[in-house]
Amino acid sequence: MLAALALPVNASAAGLIRDSEIERTLRQLITPVFSAADLTEQTVRLFIIQDNSLNAFVGTGRNMFFHTGLLRTLETPEELIGVMAHETGHITGGHLFARISAARSAQNKAIAATIIGIATAVAGAGRAGLSIAGIGNRLAERDYLSFTRSQEASADAAALAILERARIDPSGMIRVLERLEANQAAFAHNVDPYALTHPLSRQRIEFLQRDVLRSPALGAKVSAELTYWHGRMRAKLDGFIAQPGTRFTTSLGSRELDLYREAIMLHRLPSPDRALAAVDKLIEMRPSDPYYWELKGQFLLESGRGEAAIAPYRKAVALAPGDALIAGGLGQALLSADTQGHNREALQVLERAALDDPYHAGVKRSLALAYQRSGDDGMAAVVSAERMALQGQPRDALIQAQRAKALLPVGSPGHLRAEDITREIGG
Ligand SMILES: [Zn+2]
Repeated sequence: MLAALALPVNASAAGLIRDSEIERTLRQLITPVFSAADLTEQTVRLFIIQDNSLNAFVGTGRNMFFHTGLLRTLETPEELIGVMAHETGHITGGHLFARISAARSAQNKAIAATIIGIATAVAGAGRAGLSIAGIGNRLAERDYLSFTRSQEASADAAALAILERARIDPSGMIRVLERLEANQAAFAHNVDPYALTHPLSRQRIEFLQRDVLRSPALGAKVSAELTYWHGRMRAKLDGFIAQPGTRFTTSLGSRELDLYREAIMLHRLPSPDRALAAVDKLIEMRPSDPYYWELKGQFLLESGRGEAAIAPYRKAVALAPGDALIAGGLGQALLSADTQGHNREALQVLERAALDDPYHAGVKRSLALAYQRSGDDGMAAVVSAERMALQGQPRDALIQAQRAKALLPVGSPGHLRAEDITREIGG
């Protein structure tokens, strides 16, 4: 479920998008890059930010961020992989630490805090996940620290070496820079943050062009499978982000992808019957695709048919076991049916999902309701406090944490979690 874009009930930390399908696609795209750079996939976390401008950047702690504007605009997987390889070049080159100390020495603490804040947000995984709140705040233009020209050149060189080792066509990198250059010319007053962070110059493009033409990986395309999932990501983002009622005039390259985008747009109109007919056609095309079943569940749930959403969500969970975000959707559907049996099952499903993915505000919201319905007001307050902290509402989080402490036995796991929140917020 494309969390941040769906109904408020699924809202994640503002601006941060959680979606299993897209996150999986990004991991698939970046895996060859990381292994060519000798970084293991687990040490880097990927984040999707809902923002129409073109940008990608790295934070400390090896976190990589992508704006939806960039993900929607780049037409081929090779272009996006080129950006990923360049960002990876900044990580392996250690450029970020130089940026932070530069920000500190310039006494520009706000900038350092922003970058470090993003890093600690992720380092806190497994704990209450409180510090993630900082991510939700949109970075202002002035908060982007530019890399130096020599750092850019070194990241480009690293990217070329990575792509050569991964045997992926590096000419995507050129297309990205040309796109940015064209944007800069067209919207002089509204420069993409990517161009601010990664200074763009004719010289940089010319050097890169020269080296790309010499690369032995020139012309080496990624697999058809990867190209397919990249197209699915663009279809899904277009469907959820474009203005409702948008008539798409350009094809995404296949009937299936166009139908996917159209189904989501129909759902958002809303035109629930036509949206359901479209998603059923997609399921017919790929009956064991968990994300199409998940989407069907989401359509039903969001059009007020929670009980009917249970079956497709169950199917999706069975096809993608261990996926916390899909399980969160099932939990929500069970809660909306609101019988004793459904509520009990929802509590189990959501407790598991919240453990597997402590950053999902929507899962925590549903879990609090499940606790409340089971009569456990103390745990409902703990989980609500964690959600509010996650969403950048420290004052409300503190009130809930204090309520939880009053309700729960001292020393119990819930009481300890409430104390953690109080301490981190500084109450
Ligand atoms: Zn750069």
